[in-house]
Amino acid sequence: MSNEINKPQASHDADIVARVMESLLPMIERLSLTPDKINELKKPYVDPEKAAQDLAHRRRMQLEIAEGLIKKKLEQDNCDHITRYQDTEKSALRLMFRANWHDGKSRAICMNCDKVIHPARKDYRPDGSEFVIPEDPEYNKVLKLEMAA
Ligand SMILES: [Zn+2]
Repeated sequence: MSNEINKPQASHDADIVARVMESLLPMIERLSLTPDKINELKKPYVDPEKAAQDLAHRRRMQLEIAEGLIKKKLEQDNCDHITRYQDTEKSALRLMFRANWHDGKSRAICMNCDKVIHPARKDYRPDGSEFVIPEDPEYNKVLKLEMAA
């Protein structure tokens, strides 16, 4: 007897489930994982507050580096490359002998300001084309050091 009552009820329930599933199908399709969605899910979580802090930190660091480069350039431009010690003056330039350079030309480095005095030399742009960096205006000091060596 219970089978006779439950059978139409079960069929009715299955029909409801089928209709509910059919109505959910568009939503299930929307939620299905495409390769793009999977890639999006694989990305690590980025805390927006932390990201903003990191960006501010990077900008501060870039500014400090730029300020440091400007300060160094000013120091080098104002250095006479002379070391003064108890009323004696001595050139702070040290010869970087030509045999150590690919182009066979000497350089000098200042022990006060770390400036390297270069001859005219080739360099390359990012596109691979060549250009010439002109000789440092102080390069004659390198030649004098070389003659005295
Ligand atoms: Zn110097």
